[in-house]
Formats: sequence, structure tokens, C-alpha cells
Amino acid sequence: MRNSKSARNEISVESVSAIDGSSVSAHRSWNMSRIRSRDTLPERKLRSLLHRAGLRFRVNNTTLPGKPDIVLSRHGLVVFVHGCFWHQHQDCDLAKLPKTRTEFWREKFEKTRSRDQRAVFELESLGWRVIVIWECEIERTEELALRRVLEVVTARKAP
Ligand SMILES: [Zn+2]
Repeated sequence: MRNSKSARNEISVESVSAIDGSSVSAHRSWNMSRIRSRDTLPERKLRSLLHRAGLRFRVNNTTLPGKPDIVLSRHGLVVFVHGCFWHQHQDCDLAKLPKTRTEFWREKFEKTRSRDQRAVFELESLGWRVIVIWECEIERTEELALRRVLEVVTARKAP
């Protein structure tokens, strides 16, 4: 099986405390390459929220299937923060198929989608619980995104 062509370089983990509301307007100027990067704004935002909620986690894990963005080992939980365009969030405005080279994109997205599905399947068979959070969810209702994670975390703690 061949890895994604785009080599994923190690990206240094930024201090979560550096994140504040001032970056909110920055997402409007995103271009594709930035959305594609490993360390996206929605991802940092969610990490910041999780951190504030007192959760401990690791980021950019490269050993687990699909390389989850956030790993909460203690809770047996991994979180993917998916860019709506690259991962083709269904019925999402950010996930419109480009009008040029349509076939190229369709094929590319199809591959990404099956890679994503396979990762979830593999993670679940390893006993992980998997949450996928979409970029637009975090932009629109970050509290809701946080709550989705917290609900799973709390469920595990119950006797
Ligand atoms: Zn979306």
C-alpha cells in the first residue's frame, strides 16, 4: 500500500496557549495548501479547547492507523479534525468539487475517503474510539465540537 504522495513533515507542536480569538478572521484567507497542512487552525482551536477542559493528549501521532490528529490515550480515544474540502464533508459548502480537473479531484477525494474509512475501521478494531470533527463544526459551533469529545470521555469514566 502506497502512502500519500504529500510527505507529511514533522510539524512542531505549537503552544496551545498561543491560540486566541484573534485568529478567527484568519481562516477566511486560507488557501488550499494551508488547509491541507497537518496543523490547521481548527485543529489548534480544538486542542486549545480540550486543553482548557483539562484533558491531556498527544498530537500528530504517526504510528496509529490514519495518523489521528489528537490522541487521548487515557480515554482510548482518537480525534480526527478533518478539513471539509480535502475530506469532502458531505453536503458542506466548503466541500464543493472544483470546476476544473473535476475527474482528477473526484478520484483524489475518493481515495481520501476510502483511506479515512479504513483508518476508522482499523482503529476501532484495535479498540480505539474514534471521533471525526469537521473544520466547519469548529468554526460554527466549537463548543458543540468540544462537547462531543467530552461526552465520549465521560462515558468511559462511568463504572
Ligand atoms: Zn464541513
